[in-house]
Amino acid sequence: MRTAQVINPATEEAVATIELADEAATDAAIERAAAAAPAWRAVAPGDRARLLRRFADAVDDDLEHLARLEVANAGHTIGNARWEAGNVRDVLHYAAGIPERLLGQQIPVADGVNITFHEPLGVVGVIVPWNFPMPIAAWGFGPALAAGNTVVLKPAELTPLTAIRLGELALRAGLPEGVFQVLPGKGTVVGQRFVTHPAVRKVVFTGSTDVGKQIMAGCADRVKRVTLELGGKSANIVFADADLEKAAATAPYGVFDNAGQDCCARSRILVQRGVFDRFLELMEPAVAGVRVGDPSDEATEMGPLISAAHRERVAGFVSPSTKIAYTGTHRDGPGFWYPPTVVLPDGPDDRILTEEIFGPVVAVLPFEDEADALRIANDTEYGLSGSIWTGDVGRALRVARGVEAGNLSVNSHSSVRYWTPFGGYKQSGLGRELGPDAALSFTETKNVFIAT
Ligand code: NAD
Repeated sequence: MRTAQVINPATEEAVATIELADEAATDAAIERAAAAAPAWRAVAPGDRARLLRRFADAVDDDLEHLARLEVANAGHTIGNARWEAGNVRDVLHYAAGIPERLLGQQIPVADGVNITFHEPLGVVGVIVPWNFPMPIAAWGFGPALAAGNTVVLKPAELTPLTAIRLGELALRAGLPEGVFQVLPGKGTVVGQRFVTHPAVRKVVFTGSTDVGKQIMAGCADRVKRVTLELGGKSANIVFADADLEKAAATAPYGVFDNAGQDCCARSRILVQRGVFDRFLELMEPAVAGVRVGDPSDEATEMGPLISAAHRERVAGFVSPSTKIAYTGTHRDGPGFWYPPTVVLPDGPDDRILTEEIFGPVVAVLPFEDEADALRIANDTEYGLSGSIWTGDVGRALRVARGVEAGNLSVNSHSSVRYWTPFGGYKQSGLGRELGPDAALSFTETKNVFIAT
């Protein structure tokens, strides 16, 4: 079996060596999951709920350990990592409410009784990226398990450690063997086998739009169910009537959080022309004030990028001719550091405006009026997230309804609440995770008519 080293992005030190599953090991895991499926779907709803609550409690008991592991695994700041582990706990508690409430319908017919059932699919394969290894995994496996499916989770090659720990915690909480397995390995081996193996009935994929398209094409061949959470190029739209101080002070958080490695990053800041210069001026101290450094330090707000290769990719967007408005704190190695960088784009086709950078680089550009703001905001193949800053509630709603994206916030940069739906328009994805309906996407609806 091949192995890979896990590198701490803040120190460049190897923190673990893990085994990468090959195709035979993947098939064995899928077959174990398939064998465990009939018994898991037969567990009484209240008992399945209790097991998920115990899993949530095990995560809560282990929260500090999980958070510290994520600091070493992914370079996340300790504050963010605690939030992420807490999110897994909360998603599991929410999922525990599902089994007893997965209600079918009784539909009136004249000559009998007609009822619907929501039945589990069977085995679900969950493929996650490296940028939020814990929450993104839980958004898939939480509702999938709650709806009575068994799950094989494939973490990203670069960040498997917290996922492996979640697998241990599930067993410790009493989930039967085979119900939830974690299988580190390459996307082209383990992930691809989820697509081709007939026992896997659904693939949940979070990652880049290019790989998402390949997964969708592979699943199409087998009419396999798929949920896709893909890239983004979200707009932060600031109107002249907004609380400019607040909008400028929080804009760095909206894009530089997790060093910009966030699918919801507001990486295009659109500012109404009359206040454009003033906004740039107000944002400068906020960018300078972003505390970049050791992610295990409680005060740190931005850590390193995930890898040297990714830093090179991010740096490739900023050429000597790029017009930089200002940058934040620079840091020397070891560690894959890149400073918060604010750029004035060179026309609408500048790739800084059209491509997902997935790093701490933000473009700021002016707009004229509401219609112009919407035109620019929607001038992208993506549609995941975004913010609208205004003091006019009517405008806030008009613009929120006009932006083609799945998750918008007004006078805020919040993107994710586990009890509300999350997902993308256009090439940002397909389907929705989280919220009250997430579990239904892990079921088939069966209609049964009984003649009386
Ligand atoms: P990636 O697409 O390279 O990899 C994601 C996962 O897919 C990894 O586990 C990888 O091993 C696996 N994979 C790669 N090739 C595969 C293949 N051919 N078949 C099956 N699996 C394969 O993405 P990444 O670089 O890890 O993550 C960054 C991307 O994820 C960004 O585009 C970001 O916007 C996106 N993302 C989206 C969301 C969302 O909810 N919409 C959330 C986080 C990240």
